[in-house]
Amino acid sequence: MATQRHALSSKSEFESALERAYASQIDNHAGAVADYIPELTKANPDHFGMAIATAKGRIFEVGNTDIPFTIQSVSKAFVFCLALELAGPELVAERVGVEPSGDPFNAIVFDPGTNRPFNPMVNAGAIAVAGIIYEKLGKDAFAFLIDRFSDAAGNRLDLNQSVYQSEAETGHRNRAIAHLLLANDALAVPPDEALDLYFRQCSINVSAADLAWMGATFANMGTNPVTKKFAFDIAAVRSTLAVMFTCGMYDYAGHWAYDVGIPAKSGVGGGIVGVVNRQLGIASYSPRLDPKGNSVRGVGGFQVLADHFGLHAFDCTNIGSSFISSLVR
Ligand code: GLU
Repeated sequence: MATQRHALSSKSEFESALERAYASQIDNHAGAVADYIPELTKANPDHFGMAIATAKGRIFEVGNTDIPFTIQSVSKAFVFCLALELAGPELVAERVGVEPSGDPFNAIVFDPGTNRPFNPMVNAGAIAVAGIIYEKLGKDAFAFLIDRFSDAAGNRLDLNQSVYQSEAETGHRNRAIAHLLLANDALAVPPDEALDLYFRQCSINVSAADLAWMGATFANMGTNPVTKKFAFDIAAVRSTLAVMFTCGMYDYAGHWAYDVGIPAKSGVGGGIVGVVNRQLGIASYSPRLDPKGNSVRGVGGFQVLADHFGLHAFDCTNIGSSFISSLVR
């Protein structure tokens, strides 16, 4: 439930809200760093940072917001958006649905009516989407993705080679999924090419500040608020935010929509990005995950921010939009 709202009078309200969210979680040591990709175990479990970037080009940060970590499944939202732009919604819809699955992110399950993956936020859907990008761009596909991610972040991003190799060596479940996608006509390129692109996109290093800017670029209709560089197609952003809202938080998406109420995507690297449309990108980083794969402190911190600002899309007082608008000039 929303707690008391604070009088918002100056930009420092963002800082105090962030500090409050941070303080509410810093002693929370629940959860565990992902270990099914061996290289991910090297993350420092105590790192924790949160950042808010505005669609008007300001950023507010608390904690470890400059520590690099791999974007993992957070990439799925951005790559889906780019696939819509590159291939168009019709072709994308032939390969992947937009229904929440209610299953874990790595489930080997397809929509029984269509044989397609349920949505682009689970591994099966994301590998199908990576296949679309590869189908359109071939060997240039990864350069395209990392360039656009970098344009969105306003910062040159790089690939974490060790995580990429670790994932490529151990990702047998994803390999099985890719072959089933081929069998189901949800993939039109060799499975190994789609998988390689998928493993790379998941292994892009970002910080919480980068992710907040990427979220703010979504909030700012696809253009980075500071550099003014185009990163995402505006119609594709709308579709992507819808899928993030319904499917972005693994099989916790329903609870998240109920409690926090903003489009978001999380990854097993410990990152979460959230978007307040036309206003904010919000990001957190803390690598201890709950059993569903969401960052424990991240979920808790977002909850505090959503309550504090009334960010929930269906907040009955709709207080968030007007309050935040007055702050982000
Ligand atoms: N690269 C990871 C995998 O495929 C992403 C999982 C995630 O972040 O949910 O297993």
